[in-house]
Amino acid sequence: MAALDIVRIPVLSDNYVWLVHDPASAATMVVDPAVAEPVLEAAAARGWTITDIWNTHWHPDHTGGNAAIKEATGCTITGPAAEYARIPTLDVQVKGGDKVKLGDHVADVWDVPAHTAGHIAYHFAEDAAIFVGDTMFAMGCGRLFEGTAEQMFANMQKLGTLDDATRVYCAHEYTLSNARFAVTVDPGNDALAARLAAVEAARAVGEATVPTSIGEERATNPFFRASDAAELGRIRALKDAA
Ligand code: ZN
Ligand code: FE
Repeated sequence: MAALDIVRIPVLSDNYVWLVHDPASAATMVVDPAVAEPVLEAAAARGWTITDIWNTHWHPDHTGGNAAIKEATGCTITGPAAEYARIPTLDVQVKGGDKVKLGDHVADVWDVPAHTAGHIAYHFAEDAAIFVGDTMFAMGCGRLFEGTAEQMFANMQKLGTLDDATRVYCAHEYTLSNARFAVTVDPGNDALAARLAAVEAARAVGEATVPTSIGEERATNPFFRASDAAELGRIRALKDAA
C-alpha cells in the first residue's frame, strides 16, 4: 500500500487544513476545511481532485469550506453523527467504532467528546497517523466547551495507547503559546524546556510545528501527562485564565 501524501495548508490566523492524497486510488480527502479557496488551490496545484471531506467537529473554523468545496468538486462529506444538526452539509454520519476509507487506507473513527459533545478523530492505524481536530495540540489540548475534564482525560488515555511514532495531525498552530504555558506547570521537565527552545526558534522563522507525535506529547504535554481528570481540569483552568 503506497503511503498517503499529507499536505498542510495554513489558513485563517492559526488553522491547519490537512489535504490527504492516496496515490493508488487518486482519492483526495480534506480534514476540516475552514475555508475553500486555498484548499481547492492546493489540490489543483498537485493535479488532485478532492473526493472527500472529513470533519472532526462542527465549529465553523473546521467546516466553513464544506459547501464551497462540495460545490466545486461534488465530494462526499463525512462527519460526526452526533453533530449532524450543526453540520447541514454532512452526507455521511459516523461515530466511534465506524471505519472510513480513503482508497485502501482504513481509518477508525474515535469518539473524543470534550471540546465539543460529538467530536470525533480519525485514526489510520496502518499509516500511524491520527487526525485529532481540536482534541490534542502540541503540548496542549482543546478547550472544554461542551464537555468535561473527565471526558478529555479519557481521550488522552486513549491516545496514550498509540505508539510513540504515531503522527498527530491537529488543527491549529498553538504550539508556542502552549509550550510557554506548559513550562509553568511542569518546570522540571528537561524535554519540555528543550522543546520550548526549539519551537521558539521554529516560529521565529515562520516554520510550522505540527504534525506532532505521540512520543513527543508523552514527553512534554502536561494535559497528556496528567495523572487523573482532576489534574487535567486544574491545568486546563489555569491555561484558560492565562
Ligand atoms: Zn474547535
Ligand atoms: Fe478549531
